[in-house]
Amino acid sequence: MTPEAAQSRINELRVQVAHHDELYYRKAQPEVTDFAYDGLKRELAELEEKFPQFASADSPTQRVGDDRAQGFVEVAHRQKMLSLDNTYNEAEVRAFHTRLAKLLEVEELRYTVEPKIDGLAVSLTYEDGKLVRAVTRGKGDRGDDVTANVRTIRSLPHTLRGAAPKIVEIRGEIYLTAAEFERINAERAAEGEALYANPRNLAAGTIKQLDSAEVAKRKLEIVLYSLGYCEPEVVRTQTELKEKLEAWGLPVVEKIWPVTGIDAAWAAIGELDTLRRIFAYGTDGAVVKLDDMGQQRSAGATDKAPRWAVAYKFKPDTARTRVKAITIQVGKTGILSPVAELEPVFLAGSTVRRATLHNEDEIRRKDIRVGDLVEIEKAGEVIPAVLKSFPEERVVGAPEFDLAAAVGGKCPVCGGKIARLEVAAEEAQGVAWKCQNYDCRAQRAGRLGFFCSRRALAIDGLGEVVAAKLVELELVKEPPDVYDVPVETLATLNLGTTEEPRIFGEKNATKIVAAREAAKALPLEKWLYALSVPDVGESTARELGRRHRSFAELADSALLRNVLKKAELLERRELEAPASRKNPPKSEEDKARRKELCAQLDAEIAALDAGPLAGVPADIGPAVAASALEFFASAPGQRLLAKLRALGIDPQGTVVAAGAFTGKTFVLTGTLPTLKREEAEQKILAAGGKVSGSVSKKTSFVLAGAEAGSKLEKAQALGVPVIDEAEFLRMVG
Ligand code: NAD
Repeated sequence: MTPEAAQSRINELRVQVAHHDELYYRKAQPEVTDFAYDGLKRELAELEEKFPQFASADSPTQRVGDDRAQGFVEVAHRQKMLSLDNTYNEAEVRAFHTRLAKLLEVEELRYTVEPKIDGLAVSLTYEDGKLVRAVTRGKGDRGDDVTANVRTIRSLPHTLRGAAPKIVEIRGEIYLTAAEFERINAERAAEGEALYANPRNLAAGTIKQLDSAEVAKRKLEIVLYSLGYCEPEVVRTQTELKEKLEAWGLPVVEKIWPVTGIDAAWAAIGELDTLRRIFAYGTDGAVVKLDDMGQQRSAGATDKAPRWAVAYKFKPDTARTRVKAITIQVGKTGILSPVAELEPVFLAGSTVRRATLHNEDEIRRKDIRVGDLVEIEKAGEVIPAVLKSFPEERVVGAPEFDLAAAVGGKCPVCGGKIARLEVAAEEAQGVAWKCQNYDCRAQRAGRLGFFCSRRALAIDGLGEVVAAKLVELELVKEPPDVYDVPVETLATLNLGTTEEPRIFGEKNATKIVAAREAAKALPLEKWLYALSVPDVGESTARELGRRHRSFAELADSALLRNVLKKAELLERRELEAPASRKNPPKSEEDKARRKELCAQLDAEIAALDAGPLAGVPADIGPAVAASALEFFASAPGQRLLAKLRALGIDPQGTVVAAGAFTGKTFVLTGTLPTLKREEAEQKILAAGGKVSGSVSKKTSFVLAGAEAGSKLEKAQALGVPVIDEAEFLRMVG
């Protein structure tokens, strides 16, 4: 790999990891499995090691994932809360021991092996035995104060039993039992709200609720296992700590394994793996720790994790069951997705009844047939995946699955035409069967559900079930029709059956009305994304929203026409190139003529690049330009625009006024007094500037807050101007 390729891959991975971190830590709604996420992070760490010139203290490999959310007071931890180094293989656990033995110059080391609880980390402060504060891990040195929420946990004593230290920080994990997880998700499903993928995400989502009364309705649990600051010191080893926590009356793990040497630690990990499924909490691994706290201190820590502990992560759980049937779902873009209907089976904390099969090609590749015994995996997603089938156990004569035949050659929902197409939608990539009818009920419901989702206009309360009902009753055809549904109609909506009615209710209806009103003020980029324009994903919508003032301007976009024009010029340039092998010149004169023509084409392309297309990112390419222009010119696109006009909704683009910060690069460091980091970043981007992770001579400004670190020093060394928040706000105007 060349250094250029490495740098570009590193940048790409950093963006991806940051995106998943945001979804996982702050929103508790991850899109990918932990296994997939860990793979990305590992690739990044390996590249950074191989190409140290691109390493950065700001890289997600170097810091603790940040879980701070809006609406909470931030509190500093007396002692930092760190993450753990993770591995999925035995050799690395052994290498961990080799490193420690060398560092401490001790051959025989004592360890504890403990369950790695898959919950949400929290630090409790007890002063003179009284619980005074509970804080999330945050970004390691400071987190969100969630004391009121944590006090609702019934199994947590507010007073320690017996003699207690003057001040002690006790760390542990908040979790939900499998049963409680299923209960809450069933309730959410009934209300048509998005389901949580697993108990961990639900626990994290719950603790970040601002209303403790709501938190109390969910039975959160807690288990404690580690020590932060402690005055005076009361324990010397991990083993003693567990005894102490128990003596204080705190909930602790069922078992830890005190062992000597890494062989014994590895054996204990195996034992833990066979036992862990009976624990009340989910576990995703084992943590090996130096038992002796004096040795822990000698080994020390990096910014991100202690050197005296390592987490060995277990592979995601799998289970075997039978495929009862393969049904077909139709999504918002008309893609027909096969789903395996399974004999119910208990897996990793919940009962699984369905598994995604992605597409027909995957079913063929894995050779999955109705009636088959299959192995399924659950690793983060709501809908688990089928890993493989066991053809040797198959009923003789079971036919191969044929999607088109299974649906009788037409859309199973609307009966419309279907076609096999190359698709590049957010929900599916590759070749898929697609319903061709834009007015299909399933597509309509899908578009409406998406329109109201958190990622789009956040019309909370209007989830998939309600969306499907509104479309079924023909109260809504296209998403903006939702504005015409009167509150009384919403309130009396029956989401159940005639025999067993489930009325949506006035409270929920009022919530929707408030949310849809609030959505009117959202910017063009959100609305554009929400309307499911083909090929326009979240980041493309953002880029388009920054370059157009309104839907009217976008529908007739000069910018997009120029993107197409450039693509045409490039195509022509390739065809006419004097050195073209496909279309070689016929004579010397022809060659000379083409040389001249290409020079002229080059000049036209350069003029576009320097003029109307300056700074336009690769996101806005010819495919996007063609799709967007075509969509707004089409009948459905025109109907949507007319509807928005009739409703008086005219979302505004965040067009940068010939940029206060155009061409300027900012680096942020430290904690700002009032602005959160993302807010400052937003302001910079909105004014046409760029944000970078590392300081160089090219940096225009370093925006520094409290506890700014090495970046500040580097800026000073390089003579880069350093500004504070007040100055920054003045510059933004
Ligand atoms: P981690 O959860 O892997 O390990 C560190 C944490 O483990 C500690 O903070 C502590 O809270 C906890 N822990 C549980 N039991 C423990 C014990 N006995 N002793 C000590 N600590 C214990 O690290 P992390 O930084 O919190 O998060 C990384 C994890 O989150 C990875 O597993 C990663 O896959 C996942 N993640 C997933 C996504 C996604 O999009 N799927 C995104 C970000 C992170």
